Amino acid sequence: MPKTFRNFIAGRWVAPTTRAYFENRNPANTRDLIGRFPDSGAADVNAAVASATEGFRKWSRVPAPARGDILKRVGDLLVRDKELIARQMTREMGKVLAETRGDVQEGIDTAYYAASEGRRLFGHTVPSELTAKWAMSYRRPIGVAGLITPFNFPLAIPTWKMFPALLCGNSVVIKPSEDVPHTVHMLVELLLEAGLPPEAIQLVHGAKAAGQRLVEHPGVPVISFTGSTATGAAIGAECGRLHKRLSLEMGGKNAMIVMDDADLDLALDGILWGAFGTTGQRCTATSRLLLHRKIHDRFLRRLAEAAEKLVMGDGRKAGSQVGPLIHEAARDKVERYVAIGKQEGLELVTGGRRPRSPRLRNGWFYQPTIFAGAKPKSRLAQEEIFGPVLTVLRFGSFEEAVRINNGVRYGLSSSLYTRNVNLAFRAMRDLDNGITYVNAPTIGAEAHLPFGGVKETGNGHREGGWEVYHFYSETKVCYADYSGTLQRAQIDNYD
Ligand code: NAD
Repeated sequence: MPKTFRNFIAGRWVAPTTRAYFENRNPANTRDLIGRFPDSGAADVNAAVASATEGFRKWSRVPAPARGDILKRVGDLLVRDKELIARQMTREMGKVLAETRGDVQEGIDTAYYAASEGRRLFGHTVPSELTAKWAMSYRRPIGVAGLITPFNFPLAIPTWKMFPALLCGNSVVIKPSEDVPHTVHMLVELLLEAGLPPEAIQLVHGAKAAGQRLVEHPGVPVISFTGSTATGAAIGAECGRLHKRLSLEMGGKNAMIVMDDADLDLALDGILWGAFGTTGQRCTATSRLLLHRKIHDRFLRRLAEAAEKLVMGDGRKAGSQVGPLIHEAARDKVERYVAIGKQEGLELVTGGRRPRSPRLRNGWFYQPTIFAGAKPKSRLAQEEIFGPVLTVLRFGSFEEAVRINNGVRYGLSSSLYTRNVNLAFRAMRDLDNGITYVNAPTIGAEAHLPFGGVKETGNGHREGGWEVYHFYSETKVCYADYSGTLQRAQIDNYD
């Protein structure tokens, strides 16, 4: 019998009021049923927010360094359970073990960073314009934070949001992706084991209906969302109407630029990892490859040979390099784009179909695929596919490559391979993205630096690093006048 999981609301593991459940299956072998999870509705979200409101009252009074101590323990527990969580995560999400171990490691790094931030959370003390007056700002928590997360980083992205939100003194209601609910279930168990007061964390499983209720609930002043640009736009409209604080991290169409002076061996390793790691399902995945015309043909030949050697398989099996897509709809989308590429007259260099091996029959696998001959406006060079499909474009000058890189609606990550130090610095200045790598692929963010994108990738906020702590806290300014007289700021003292 598959296990039936529950929500965590008001300090207890409870069944959803809807009595409805969805199945969570292994994308590498859909006959493997991981469990049934609550398909929650508005009443479940309402109960979670009511309890989180009480949780906020208590948790926000705990000193920030003590909040940090609990997050430090969460980090220690993630270290203890790293292998177990990574294996379970691969089972429900599909990416290979090395990547799910990295996903847990990001959670560990984020926990330890949050723990140390408990002893900073700096405000400012500044001189006053007036005599005998003290002027300062400090950062205080906001309230209940509603967190909505995607499938591709089942642990890391929830921790990017949850740990800073909690460290700042907010309580949290999280609605994880319905594609990977088990990982957050395990994470919440660890938070409780570490000593987090139960009302400070609420877990509501479900899909769009639960997410929508969280966004529109008047008791939730802060929403942080990572997912597709279409969903983020709908959430943005709602939060604008309700005057909510909102962080959006959305889609990408990231490019790697390879100049004619680049170290081509290095660039080859980088593009294989950037394009086909996580089966192309990273927001920072390299989905466009811009090759200088002088190296275009020979680099493309080498790349195709190497891509054909990548081993698809169950991510828990030694030797697997490329796992399945997350579900049938994701593979259908890849197939639709492969058809569009052919219709638009692009050259299919390799891949372009499902693998034939009976070993992969029960999973959502798709061959690493490369199209060449794209124009900057080709749909495959403009639209996010979120799968193992790489679109190659040819360019003649650095300036042209910058124009192509910038000519999309997204702006998350970019990368330049060159040995020319001047071009490297120009790329850091001119590529219109939140992140630029030099001589490394478009993926590989570090937990202690701000992460996010420009244009339709984001809305100006950042996750990670020091910046996220500003999102989850409100600046309050305090003045204390100890002159014993009425001193009037902003008034000319002419008499
Ligand atoms: P998605 O938009 O389908 O779903 C994300 C989450 O939103 C899920 O939990 C889902 O249940 C919930 N949701 C769906 N409709 C909703 C609604 N109307 N209101 C509230 N919640 C709703 O995204 P996905 O398929 O899980 O993830 C893939 C996408 O995420 C890609 O576009 C990728 O680029 C993006 N992504 C971006 C980043 C980043 O940092 N920029 C990181 C990871 C993934």
